[in-house]
Amino acid sequence: MRKIYDIAIIGAGPAGIATSCEAIIFGVENILLFEKSDNHSETIRKYFNDNKPVDKDWKGIKVELEGHIDFKDGTKETTLDLFEDSLEKKLIDAKFNTEISKVIRVKDKFKVFTSTNDIYYAKNIVIAIGKMGKPNKPSYKIPSSLRSRANHTIADCKGNEDVLVVGGGDSACEYAYFIHQDNRVTFNYRRDEITKAHPKNVKNLMNCAEDKEIELKLGIDIEKVEDENGKFKVYYTNGEISKYDRIIYALGGVTPKEFLESCSVVLDEKGNPFVNEKNLNSQGVYLAGDVAGSIGGSIALALNHGYNIIKDGVVYSEHHEAQSA
Ligand SMILES: Cc1cc2nc3c(=O)[nH]c(=O)nc-3n(C[C@H](O)[C@H](O)[C@H](O)COP(=O)(O)OP(=O)(O)OC[C@H]3O[C@@H](n4cnc5c(N)ncnc54)[C@H](O)[C@@H]3O)c2cc1C
Repeated sequence: MRKIYDIAIIGAGPAGIATSCEAIIFGVENILLFEKSDNHSETIRKYFNDNKPVDKDWKGIKVELEGHIDFKDGTKETTLDLFEDSLEKKLIDAKFNTEISKVIRVKDKFKVFTSTNDIYYAKNIVIAIGKMGKPNKPSYKIPSSLRSRANHTIADCKGNEDVLVVGGGDSACEYAYFIHQDNRVTFNYRRDEITKAHPKNVKNLMNCAEDKEIELKLGIDIEKVEDENGKFKVYYTNGEISKYDRIIYALGGVTPKEFLESCSVVLDEKGNPFVNEKNLNSQGVYLAGDVAGSIGGSIALALNHGYNIIKDGVVYSEHHEAQSA
């Protein structure tokens, strides 16, 4: 007889980890947690620089934590330790290096297809894949000869380079601030003011700009980029032209609509996923974390989604099913 799990959770970032831990706490033990990379929290590992301060109220948005994971202001390292600990304590054995390719609804359950060619069955699906699997790209073309130096993180920055950081959110501010001591940094945002980032990050950036440690190019956009002797030749909309060794695009992520559709998620007429207050999209299909919202999420919001899904969604509906049986 094939085993039917209560929940299959796709993605072991904050949302997937919270969903699995809350499930165990509420007595739903028959769960699966899939992660495509070789460890949990791939977004944090890849996009957060070492020692990055991690804010609970990210972007200044206050979130009351509802669930059982005690997440506080800390650093990249303390946040990863917290999630490592949470998985270990609840004895959750995530299936790493296992990418989910599609999920098909078969009557009252779901058939889950993996990159390892194994097939699993579950009564509920929680999609917690985040948005950073598909980072936003600029609309103009990047010459193929320069692509390896057009990055979405600062991981490849070598030091002593002319680096252009493009974006207007917290990641862009943090990246520019983090690398400015070892590089010559220019910060470009198409709007005149940085309104989307945490005031602390804007202050750090502005102080550096005042001290001429970072050059600001606000209120102008980039028209095109060419390769000139191995450097990025950047044409700005105000007619300025500058050259850089590297460009960091910190433009956030895209909702992976095609993937969601192939996972039995119902999309609205504009092709966007939607959820109700229990994070439910359609019978048995839940979305958690960044992928559940149209605007940027946060770790605290992702943790609350996991709690909601288990307490108000899966556990609530199982209880009602049992009562009506
Ligand atoms: C540079 C940067 C700085 C940030 N700083 C903060 C901060 O200080 N505080 C804060 O609260 N938030 C911060 N955020 C936002 C925060 O990282 C996200 O809101 C949070 O990680 C969302 O969690 P998630 O679980 O929804 O998705 P993610 O963290 O993106 O996790 C998704 C997981 O799913 C996996 N996955 C994807 N596709 C599949 C698949 N098909 N099969 C299996 N696994 C899959 C991925 O590998 C990943 O591990 C920051 C974001 C960035 C980019």
